[in-house]
Amino acid sequence: MKDVTGSGAPSSPAGAAEPALPDRRRGAPSGGSEPHEVGSVGATYTGRFAPSPTGPLHAGSLVAALASWLDARAHGGQWLVRIEDTDTPRCVPGADALILQQLAACGLIPDAPPLYQSQRGAAYQAALDTLVGRQLAYPCGCTRQDIAQALAAAGQPKPRHGELVYPGTCRRGLQGQPARAWRLLTEKSERNRPSAPVQQARAATHLIANKNLNWSDRRLGLQQQDVEQAVGDFVLRRADGLWAYQLAVVVDDGAQGITDIVRGEDLADNTARQILLQRVLRLPTPRHLHVPLVLGADGEKLSKQNGAQALDTGVPLLSLNAAATVLGLQPAAADGVADWLGQAVQQWASLYAPVKSVRD
Ligand SMILES: [Zn+2]
Repeated sequence: MKDVTGSGAPSSPAGAAEPALPDRRRGAPSGGSEPHEVGSVGATYTGRFAPSPTGPLHAGSLVAALASWLDARAHGGQWLVRIEDTDTPRCVPGADALILQQLAACGLIPDAPPLYQSQRGAAYQAALDTLVGRQLAYPCGCTRQDIAQALAAAGQPKPRHGELVYPGTCRRGLQGQPARAWRLLTEKSERNRPSAPVQQARAATHLIANKNLNWSDRRLGLQQQDVEQAVGDFVLRRADGLWAYQLAVVVDDGAQGITDIVRGEDLADNTARQILLQRVLRLPTPRHLHVPLVLGADGEKLSKQNGAQALDTGVPLLSLNAAATVLGLQPAAADGVADWLGQAVQQWASLYAPVKSVRD
């Protein structure tokens, strides 16, 4: 692993091999008072659909794709596709092309070429460098077993959604262990910080002081999470060297100028962590809309594991009508995909009215 501890200055988020992207960090609003002003959105709207290429689209993933597309069109905005292929062992070769074909068959065509997270390592490294430079990220040498033992010793052995709440063991340093992962420091206290760049540490503390985050979802309403208490210092770079989902998403949403995140409600729980990362990276926080999920026979989110079939795009209007129903839209009889989508945009606009004000 690259030693980033000596790096104080943030390097460019767009390295030589990176696609040219606007850098939205400079001049972006930072921090903010509670409740957080969700939606630092100007006159433009940019949305995205971000599938993992682990297989073809299924009925559930079409719902998320359609919702994000409809919201972008209802706002007269741009719609982008991002291929989230950071978890390389789970990616299936060719699945990205298949997903794009399935989307196109349903009339959902991105306004720019897709962004591939597997090509964005330099940008993620730059973001981690920035956080390390501000003493907001630190290396962790704990194995899962170490974490379980530390929690048990503290009388808190209960996992949350199957994940252990990291107890902050390595905030005090690695204690001779090799670094495995990198974590975000979520606590506001400075007591465990080295005293060296006091000004930097104070500024950083100010940025994340409101770790008990409030945010407003356009469908779910006001949400709240204390990230430190609910999740702990979460992973930015994994022990296997892969970039963590939260970091990659936040860096890419910032680089692509995403103003609105429309996605399945199973991801709502990630939002507080992502807002925290946006604050410490001084990126704007988009508006959020979390939409209903398609459930499998077991009552869980539809996935390959509980029987999701690849989306049959042979009769796209059938698939689109099924997805629309999940979103609360009326099925429409239409003369082709374009006509159907045009009607759906009208329905969407009246159901999830385009947001006039950027403040809730
Ligand atoms: Zn640790």
